[in-house]
Amino acid sequence: MIIDCHGHYTTSPRQHEAWRGEQIAAQGDGRSAPMRPTITDDEIRASIGNGQLKVQQERGTDLTIFSPRAAGMGHHLGDAWTSEAWATACNELIHRVCTLFPRNFVGVCMLPQSAGVSPANCTAELERCVLQYGFVGCNLNPDPSGGFWKDPPLGDRYWYPLYEKMVELNVPAMIHVSAACNPAFHTTGSHYLNGDTAAFMQCLTSDLFKNFPTLKFIIPHGGGAVPYHWGRFRGLAQDMKLPPLSELLLNNVFFDTCVYHLPGQELLTKVIPLDNILFASEMIGAVRGIDPETGHHYDDTKRYIEQLPLSAGDKAKLYEGNARRVYGRLSAQLAKQFG
Ligand SMILES: [Zn+2]
Repeated sequence: MIIDCHGHYTTSPRQHEAWRGEQIAAQGDGRSAPMRPTITDDEIRASIGNGQLKVQQERGTDLTIFSPRAAGMGHHLGDAWTSEAWATACNELIHRVCTLFPRNFVGVCMLPQSAGVSPANCTAELERCVLQYGFVGCNLNPDPSGGFWKDPPLGDRYWYPLYEKMVELNVPAMIHVSAACNPAFHTTGSHYLNGDTAAFMQCLTSDLFKNFPTLKFIIPHGGGAVPYHWGRFRGLAQDMKLPPLSELLLNNVFFDTCVYHLPGQELLTKVIPLDNILFASEMIGAVRGIDPETGHHYDDTKRYIEQLPLSAGDKAKLYEGNARRVYGRLSAQLAKQFG
């Protein structure tokens, strides 16, 4: 089985995102938000059948761990109440996709975060999505201010109420920023990769995993700059008299394969232990074009992996085994969804 651990509902029916615009405009004007739009099952079927499901089938993957559109989370917009209403709407839509296509999608929720608002505010929505919807993880935005980094780093006790709930529910978080509202950062070209790299260093310099030995993070987009600069991170840890990174972080931190060229994948799998890499493509995402050098989509990451000198056992880990291990509820949820 090939599990893609990183997919977003980027093709959701138009009225869903349109409502978000109206909701934020209403909040700005001090009005209450309009009613949420009707979205029919047929509209969802069409958006998936001509979108992520079609690409799964074309590329020969089986299952996508699916979450709301990341840039659309927009935790810097509105306030805690608008974030909550928006997260509820987005997560409900993911649940409907997983219900209509139980063999192809398993849900991951976005959290109703807001800059400066305690992450304790997110635990109820996380619990609801896991227990009622059967979701297997969450996307955690380390910078709800959208490029201004106003909240404490991930190792800070500020975030602990959320981590306690994650551990209790046995779900990991993908550390995933949303859109940048700071014009210095391009959302997917710099803010995403900065977020990945910053999150890793925040973990490295904290005692987070001493306090939460079973907490698990997936750092997406191949870990940002981390694998490429592994020597720098090892050296920094050594200078700080910290244990080797394998001991310090690699029981808890995992990387996905959203790297859009073969040399990057070669480096990732050479530097990072295979036990810490989860297959992912983030398809129909940030980079949608075809690479003229290969004639294939940049985000068709399976093609690169097929070219790597990996044993069948290593490939099985990367495609399936690691995802089942990191997403502790995944196997049981799949058993349910596959009936
Ligand atoms: Zn993403």
